[in-house]
Amino acid sequence: MKYVDEFRDPRLIRQAADEVRRLARPDRHYRIMEVCGGHTHAIYRFGLEGLLPGNVELIHGPGCPVCVLPMGRTDDGLALAELPGVVFTAFGDVMRVPGTKGSPLEHKARGAEIRMVYSPLDALKLAQGHPGKHVVFFAIGFETTAPSTALTLLKARQLGLGNFSVFCNHVTIIPAIRAILDSPDMRLDAFVGPGHVSTVIGCRPYEFIAQDYGKPIVVSGFEPLDVLQSLVMILRQLADGRSEVENQYARVVPWEGNLPALRALEEVFELRPYFEWRGLGFISQSALKLRDEFAEWDSERRFDVPGIRVTDPKAAQCGEVLKGVLKPPQCKLFGTECTPERPVGALMVSSEGACAAYYHYVHRMAAAGSLEG
Ligand code: SF4
Repeated sequence: MKYVDEFRDPRLIRQAADEVRRLARPDRHYRIMEVCGGHTHAIYRFGLEGLLPGNVELIHGPGCPVCVLPMGRTDDGLALAELPGVVFTAFGDVMRVPGTKGSPLEHKARGAEIRMVYSPLDALKLAQGHPGKHVVFFAIGFETTAPSTALTLLKARQLGLGNFSVFCNHVTIIPAIRAILDSPDMRLDAFVGPGHVSTVIGCRPYEFIAQDYGKPIVVSGFEPLDVLQSLVMILRQLADGRSEVENQYARVVPWEGNLPALRALEEVFELRPYFEWRGLGFISQSALKLRDEFAEWDSERRFDVPGIRVTDPKAAQCGEVLKGVLKPPQCKLFGTECTPERPVGALMVSSEGACAAYYHYVHRMAAAGSLEG
């Protein structure tokens, strides 16, 4: 399969891993953050950490939108789901995210009208087919998914659809990276840049990372060879004393981004002054809200959203894992009280969550191996 088979070629993968080992100086420790949850998933799925020398450490970043959403926003969404006549819709990932009174799936089991959709357009169609109901779409994601929400809102306005609104939880990646760079315990050497988000925003917005903070960033694809090639590019920059934005994923990511998608985002959304990120706290101008022209389709203006704030369960260490301070199995609840079947934290829910990826591809296989042994 084009763009898959050649990026999973064992010979090329071995060569790239050899090059990583050759470039990594034995007297130095490298801490490289993969920003995107898709990379975290790929790293565990393909066992890439096992190919790296011990002094090249991968730190899992905040690029899983379900994981960084504070529990209060889930509770707020579920408060809408309990209103009479409301049908609450969301992507499958959101369905199992724990709120304080259970996940959307558990609320559905208790009788709330909750439906899983594959796109915001599905939610819009549901509203068209049920004029007696009000359909709320729980929008979530980075710039990757925000354009589809924007286009759906443009369609809703074009149709004059009055029984549809969006509960907007879209976040933007650049302020989160800046918050990590400004954090007092920042000890990163470089970044593997997010591939999906960059298909929309392009590479230019990362230039401040190289120019102002002196850190290399390489936008990367998601196959094993992509990730290893990106690490080679990063280590070459570090060896040469360079800090630049490079695009390993040029077969998909245009340097200037997707201009029609960016125009749709600009037309529909504006930045919120502040938004809370799980593990990172409040970050200014890090999330999107609907512009005044779309107030009619904004769930937060149509309904009385409670604005619930919830602290995570004390023993849950999602924040530390999100900031790369702890690895998933170092959380006290990992694999015991918190599992993919019964998640305590959101990092155990989404396939892009570091805890779920680690559980599926490392913990479970190690457990199976010890049973076989
Ligand atoms: S194991 Fe569960 S509680 Fe602990 S960090 Fe991961 S998701 Fe959070």
